[in-house]
Amino acid sequence: MKLLLQHLILWSLGLSILLACTTKSKEPNHVPINSTHSPLLNVRSQTIQQAIPIGLQKLIAAYPEQNFKASSTALIWMDGDTMPYRDSTPNKDFEMLLNHPDLEDQFIMPYPKGIDFPIPSRNSDPGRVRVEAFFLKMYGQTKEAVRKNLVEIDFLGTSLLVTKINSIDKKLIHIAKKLAQYPELKKYVENVGGTFNWRKIAGTNRLSTHSFGMTIDINVKYSNYWRWAVQDKTEDGKRPIVYKNRIPLKIVQIFEENGFIWGGKWYHYDTMHFEYRPELLIE
Ligand SMILES: [Zn+2]
Repeated sequence: MKLLLQHLILWSLGLSILLACTTKSKEPNHVPINSTHSPLLNVRSQTIQQAIPIGLQKLIAAYPEQNFKASSTALIWMDGDTMPYRDSTPNKDFEMLLNHPDLEDQFIMPYPKGIDFPIPSRNSDPGRVRVEAFFLKMYGQTKEAVRKNLVEIDFLGTSLLVTKINSIDKKLIHIAKKLAQYPELKKYVENVGGTFNWRKIAGTNRLSTHSFGMTIDINVKYSNYWRWAVQDKTEDGKRPIVYKNRIPLKIVQIFEENGFIWGGKWYHYDTMHFEYRPELLIE
């Protein structure tokens, strides 16, 4: 009888552990909280803070000039506009993620920061899931609205039009200064392929991030793009794309240190492409 009781206890313990594991929420982690307020205030602010999902906390931290605020379910813009963090569609496939993402989905593929990264596995495109409305609201709703925020900068001898939103102009000037310290990198970053260009992504209905003036293509001559590697220019869903890159990783490191992600870390690679996405570089 005693043995049977022991078995029963062990069994129910195992079941509760199993249940605890399988019912784990979609997003268990939260940014740690530091507070020096009174205990009462501390408890209250902890409750509020912990209710804000990690992705929203990252957006707030990554874009200080936007003065974002958040609730447990939405991003709150400076002008009071809100954007939902989650929509009601569960288990989106790759195409759904690209075409109908929510703000939470923007973080669904972790971006591997640094020079030590794996060859991207099939459909691993960290950063290509973008809520278009988020970027339109931040950089301008139309070509003309974006244009109003553009300034001309000198980037290692090339004159570029880039947005001054989020101080991206200053960040690119700083990046150019850093790159200039490495003469061996010059050929990759001179003759810049382009920055501002209000257009759709080739083969899609989605706006390219070049539309927002926060993206730069470095020298096309030394770059690789997945579509160039696919014979019929479409992805048939069967043939794997063979990864190629000739861009030195020192360049990637300098851009990442200043808030830009690199298209060379995508399965659908685009090794000339750097876009300002500091929310994906925050740890
Ligand atoms: Zn590009």
